[in-house]
Amino acid sequence: MFDTLQDRLAATFKNLRGKGKLTEADIDATAREIRIALLEADVNLGVVKEFIKNIKERCLGAEVSEALNPSQQIIKIVNEELVDILGGDTRTIRFAKKPPTVIMLAGLQGAGKTTLAGKLAHWLKSEGHSPLLVAADLQRPNAVNQLQVVAGRAGVHCFAPEPGNGVGDPVQVARASIDEADRRLYDVVIVDTAGRLGVDEVLMQQAADIKAAVTPDEVLFVVDAMIGQDAVNTAQAFADGVGYDGVVLTKLDGDARGGAALSIARVIGKPIMFASSGEGMKDFDVFHPERMASRILGMGDMLTLIEQAEKTFDEEKSRKAHEKIVTKGGSGFGLGDFLEQMKMIRKMGPLSKLFGMLPGMDGAMKDQLNNIDEKEVDRIEAIILSMTPAERDDPKILNGSRRARIAKGSGTEVSEVNNLVNRFFEARKVMSSFANGQMPAGMPGMPG
Ligand code: GDP
Repeated sequence: MFDTLQDRLAATFKNLRGKGKLTEADIDATAREIRIALLEADVNLGVVKEFIKNIKERCLGAEVSEALNPSQQIIKIVNEELVDILGGDTRTIRFAKKPPTVIMLAGLQGAGKTTLAGKLAHWLKSEGHSPLLVAADLQRPNAVNQLQVVAGRAGVHCFAPEPGNGVGDPVQVARASIDEADRRLYDVVIVDTAGRLGVDEVLMQQAADIKAAVTPDEVLFVVDAMIGQDAVNTAQAFADGVGYDGVVLTKLDGDARGGAALSIARVIGKPIMFASSGEGMKDFDVFHPERMASRILGMGDMLTLIEQAEKTFDEEKSRKAHEKIVTKGGSGFGLGDFLEQMKMIRKMGPLSKLFGMLPGMDGAMKDQLNNIDEKEVDRIEAIILSMTPAERDDPKILNGSRRARIAKGSGTEVSEVNNLVNRFFEARKVMSSFANGQMPAGMPGMPG
């Protein structure tokens, strides 16, 4: 969603790179470029103004003029200010001392509340909680059914009114769900409420009534990040009409500019707590302002990547590979390890999505990634599997005749074998620079 913003900021910082002292004119020019980038990304005008003012003040101050590397110092300042705009510290659910913790979802129709209810339940379950979904959206004929389906996908229970039995009063349903949770020992109750197509009085009143009836521990305002500046306006209307504790951004996988959604935390003064980025139950993350900022600034989102990796990786194998890479500077890291790592990475999802989280990914590189042919990865796998264990451990022994044999065995060309071996040696070089505490210059070793 933030591709254009990332590209523009990357270009701005590129202009600074290598500059020793920065003049006031340099700082002005940089501030102007950042301003344009943010406005083009649809960030709220008031937020942009404040942001630029803060950055200019700090850049003209001692922090930068006395820094050894002024341009890096500027990136650091922009990063810190961006984290601040995005809400500062990470904030997730505050659980009630006495269960159940009651979470109420509010927002416009189509914002993604019902989907989010499922994702939230799925996540809470993975964190060891036992959540109950509550269908208090009785406006849309199909809403109860939709929540039941979502509950099924999340593997949790759904509390809904029995047909014909007091149907139609969402406040009653919400209240009854708390008793149900008490009786059956659910420790979190997630109440899905009705949305309308636009902000209206009746909608606000109903949400406010449910809120009064169940006194939620957390009211989450769910908003579609694709709706632009309306996201900020709607957020304000719900803040005034219902009141909430935190914001959930949905549809971050869309191709809208998204800057407006990022302005909500600052404009309303409520933290963004979660982000939703797809239709699957797992397309859901705790929102970390500092990670989002570094992602926007092209510093990648290594922490999220690492967390995803941890979910998928075989710990023991990873630990061994890590040891070979970091402590031994790549020596002892053979093609067999390379293949293991590649297979684990593939389990994590499409390569293009993964590499997008790495630092230093500019537009051209991203385009390349989108062209990665996953089939090529299959070919690499075939080549490595055609090697003997000794060859995998020590590819230096791969002479011409061995390479010809491998090409034949894997149904590839000798040039492809050569290509892989060369890239592997380059990757090992990068590993040794990692081990020496330097950042790699590029990303060799990547297919494509
Ligand atoms: P509600 O009316 O607020 O309950 O919204 P729904 O949960 O019914 O979502 C409205 C539509 O948006 C549905 O088609 C969802 O599948 C879709 N949707 C929800 N969250 C996301 C998301 O994060 N990404 C995408 N691409 N679609 C989403």
